[in-house]
Amino acid sequence: MTVLVQENDPTTAVLPSQLMDLLVCPVDKQDLRLHGHELVCTSCGRHYPIEDGIPNMLVEDAG
Ligand SMILES: [Zn+2]
Repeated sequence: MTVLVQENDPTTAVLPSQLMDLLVCPVDKQDLRLHGHELVCTSCGRHYPIEDGIPNMLVEDAG
């Protein structure tokens, strides 16, 4: 899996914080937090993979 990274700033390598602020869980509209290369819902715990810097928010693919 290839992820574009800003090598000098790993905290924003996966997603910019502005984008994180806009994203919510599509199931329950709760906040997501970044866990590795996935977004994890703080409420229901679903995982949403980030593929090439784009969050995959399809509920069908959430684990
Ligand atoms: Zn959720």
